[in-house]
Amino acid sequence: MPIAFDNSYARDLTGAYVSVAPQGWPDPQLVLLNTAWAKHLGLDAADLQTAEGVAMLSGHAAPKAAQPIAQAYAGHQFGGFSPQLGDGRAYLLGEIVAPDGLRHDLHLKGSGRTPFARGGDGRAVLGPVLREYLVSEAMAALGIPTTRALAACTTGDRVLRQHGLEPGAVLARTAASHLRVGTLQFFAARGQTDMVARLADYAIARHDPDLVGQDGRYLAFLKRVGARQAQLVAQWMGVGFVHGVMNTDNCTLSGETIDYGPCAFMERFDPATVFSSIDYGGRYAYGNQPGILLWNMSRLAETLLPLIDPDQERAIALATDAVEAIQEQYRAEWLAVFARKLGFEGGCDAALVEDMQTLWQGQGVDFTSFFQALPDAVMGDEATLAALFTDPSGLPDWLARLRIGLGNPDIAAQRMRAVNPVYIPRNHLVEHALDAASEHGDMDPFLSLLQHVQQPFTKCAGSEAFAGPAPVDAPTVVTFC
Ligand code: AMP
Ligand code: MG
Ligand code: MG
Repeated sequence: MPIAFDNSYARDLTGAYVSVAPQGWPDPQLVLLNTAWAKHLGLDAADLQTAEGVAMLSGHAAPKAAQPIAQAYAGHQFGGFSPQLGDGRAYLLGEIVAPDGLRHDLHLKGSGRTPFARGGDGRAVLGPVLREYLVSEAMAALGIPTTRALAACTTGDRVLRQHGLEPGAVLARTAASHLRVGTLQFFAARGQTDMVARLADYAIARHDPDLVGQDGRYLAFLKRVGARQAQLVAQWMGVGFVHGVMNTDNCTLSGETIDYGPCAFMERFDPATVFSSIDYGGRYAYGNQPGILLWNMSRLAETLLPLIDPDQERAIALATDAVEAIQEQYRAEWLAVFARKLGFEGGCDAALVEDMQTLWQGQGVDFTSFFQALPDAVMGDEATLAALFTDPSGLPDWLARLRIGLGNPDIAAQRMRAVNPVYIPRNHLVEHALDAASEHGDMDPFLSLLQHVQQPFTKCAGSEAFAGPAPVDAPTVVTFC
C-alpha cells in the first residue's frame, strides 16, 4: 500500500527549503517500529516492515510520492544568533493526513548530509536515536505534547562519536509540523518580510486555522504560540523534564516538544539541574526553563513585528503586552499543574506549592518519589514521604496545610495517583538500556524500560527497580547532543 503523501510545505513554500536525495546505506535494518502510532497514522505496519518500507524509514530510498526536503531555519543557540542552521542531518519526507484528519510531517533524522550540514557528518547514532524514541514515547504517555517516534533503523555502517565508533542509525518521527521560531528568524534576519508572512500564514493554516485571513492574525498567532509553549513548559516542570537545549530552533510553533538531544529527567529536586555536556552556564537548567520560554517568545515576537502593525512603536507595544500575558499564562499553567499533582480538583494557593519547593531545598528529595509517597502521607502514613528528606522536620506543618485544603483524603489520593507518574525515564536506566543496545546489540533492557514508561501511571508488581532514583553511588549522568 503506497503512502499518500501530501507535500504542502514543498508546494507552498519554495525558497524555504532545498530538495535532497537519499544517499543509500550499506545495510538498512529496522530496529523498532511503533506499530500503535503507525496505526494511528493510518499506515500498515506490515508494509512498513517490507524491504521497501524499511528503505523509506531508514532514508535508504524515498518512495515516489515523497518529496524529500531539508528545511531552512536559523536560531539563537545558547543566546547567540546563528543566521543559518537548517536540517543538516535530516529531511522531511512528506506529510501524512491521518484518519482523524490531522496532518503530520514524516521526518527522518540521521539521514545524511544536506546543504545545511556545515561541518557535520549528517549522521546520528543508535544511542541518541533510541533516547529520542524512548523519551518521546514517555512524554506522549504522560500526556505532554511531543513529536512521535515511528521507527528506529540502523544503517549498517559505523559513525565516529565521543566514545569511538557507534552504529549509524536513523529515527523516523512525526510532528504536527517542524515549524520553529528559528524558521521565521531565518527570513526575518534577512529582511524578507514577505517570506515571514508566507510562513506565518502557512503556520496559521496548519495550527490555528480559525485565524486564517483575519485582520490582526499575526498578533493573535503570537498569543496562540505563547499559550501553547506556556502550557508545554509548565507540563515539563510538572514531571521534572529538562529539555537541555531550548534554542529557538528547537522551539516549535505547534507547541510540541522537539529535539530530544541532551534531555533528561531531574531526580533530586534542584532548580540548577543540568545534564547537557555543553551547557556550561546552566542556561537551560530546570529552573531557568520558564525564563527561557519568555526569551524565546520575545524572539518570535521580533520576527512578527513588521506584520503586527506598520507603526513599529505600536507593534512593539502590542507584542510586549502579548509576551507579558504569556508570562502570566505560564504562571497560571504552572500553578494548575502542581495543584493537580497535589490532589486538588480546582486550583490551590500558590503559597502551598512555593512552600513545598522551599521544603525540598537542599534535602535531596527525589521529585517523582515525593509525589508517589504523597497519597499515603495525606491518608496518615507519613513514613515513606519523610524518609525522602534528610531533615523532615518541616514536613508535618506543610502536610497539615495540604490536608486542610484537600478535604476528603481518599479522593485526593486517587486524584494524585491518576496524574503523578510511577515510571519516568530514569537516567541510570536510560543509560543502561542505550549502552546494552548500542554496545552489545541487546534490546531487552530498552524494551522493558519502554514498556514501563509507556504506562507511566500503572504500578506493576516486581517493577520497583524502574520506580526509584539511581543508587547513591551511581555516576552522575551527562548527556550529549
Ligand atoms: P541540534 O543541536 O540537534 O538542534 O542541531 C542544531 C543544528 O546542527 C541543526 O541545524 C542540525 O541539523 C545541525 N546538526 C546537528 N548534528 C549534525 C550532524 N551530525 N551533521 C550535520 N548537521 C548537524
Ligand atoms: Mg534541533
Ligand atoms: Mg556509553
